[in-house]
Amino acid sequence: MSVPDYHTHTVRCGHATGRAADYVNEAHRNGLPAIGIADHLPLLHAKDLSLAMDLADLEDYVREVQDLQRTFPGYVLLGIEADYRPDTLDDLRSLLCSYPFQYVIGSVHYLEGWGFDDPRYSNGFEERDIDHIYRDYFDLVGDAAECRLFTILGHLDLVKKFGHRPRNRLEAHVETLAARIARSGSIVEVNTAGLRRPAAEIYPSRDMLEVLKRRDIPITFGSDAHRPSEVGLGFGAALDLVRLCGYTQYAVIMPTAGSTGRIQLHSLPL
Ligand code: ZN
Ligand code: FE
Ligand code: FE
Ligand code: ZN
Repeated sequence: MSVPDYHTHTVRCGHATGRAADYVNEAHRNGLPAIGIADHLPLLHAKDLSLAMDLADLEDYVREVQDLQRTFPGYVLLGIEADYRPDTLDDLRSLLCSYPFQYVIGSVHYLEGWGFDDPRYSNGFEERDIDHIYRDYFDLVGDAAECRLFTILGHLDLVKKFGHRPRNRLEAHVETLAARIARSGSIVEVNTAGLRRPAAEIYPSRDMLEVLKRRDIPITFGSDAHRPSEVGLGFGAALDLVRLCGYTQYAVIMPTAGSTGRIQLHSLPL
């Protein structure tokens, strides 16, 4: 028995393989209780079809997932992963309102235009102070929580992806971020993709998760699968980690037709 995987991509984003149906079938085969498809929302600040689908494809994406919802009633959720960027916030708000997403994963992938998690631009880490990068990043994640557009905050410490560690522990910054997230009512995603990156650990780290738990911030799980075989990957380790941090429950998004799903807390599986 496992937990739902709410963070999966599809071939539409230009850097993943497999159709939504392949991810759903894989989840079903692996015995996951539910799956959410959350492909990258079309970029609002640029056009790069290797990062996200074209705006013209969004309607087909929604329809494709809705078709799967009819085939697997109550099993499939329609989600989306959206970038938090201060410069496109108004456009983002109106785009999200135009589609019946049941949840939105809010992710910070840019620091002042720098796509820091994109291997093509990873030299940017050599040009900046690492503690500065972490602080700016956490500030933006807090802003993302407070804009209230996102159900779930994605990969909370993504800045560690390529293995760059802060020089200092930044505890005060993490505390401030946790307080902002708690006030916003956002869920934090436990994302196993970090295990498959140079960081070699789950997002967020154990230290951060312990701070989140002290404020009882709810969690969900996501593999950030970019190929069907990655669905649910690392969930055993994720469950071990959250239990270690004191979590006994996780959030489930209830499939409420046509609107943002309601949240229920369920006990973690044994
Ligand atoms: Zn991606
Ligand atoms: Fe992401
Ligand atoms: Fe993702
Ligand atoms: Zn992601």
